[in-house]
Amino acid sequence: MTECPQCGTNNEDDVKNCSKCRINMYWAFQHFDELAAIRKANELTIAPASPTFLVETSQKVDKGPTAGWLHNTIKKFGFKDAGKKVSTI
Ligand SMILES: [Zn+2]
Repeated sequence: MTECPQCGTNNEDDVKNCSKCRINMYWAFQHFDELAAIRKANELTIAPASPTFLVETSQKVDKGPTAGWLHNTIKKFGFKDAGKKVSTI
């Protein structure tokens, strides 16, 4: 299980997006601290709720035609390193 950097939800290790807030887990592990600092500097909520339409659209991707490939790729490489390794195949 992997804890979402933005909302703290525990997710399976092969997810692309957090099951609750839907942030991209690969991106979040690289950049969420930077995003949180920008939000804080601008007196914004550090971890705001995701808009409903974004949550619903993102959940559809999890059930879409690329879901199997996506989960296998993340299992193979791990989402924390997926961007770098996948792009070199
Ligand atoms: Zn989350």
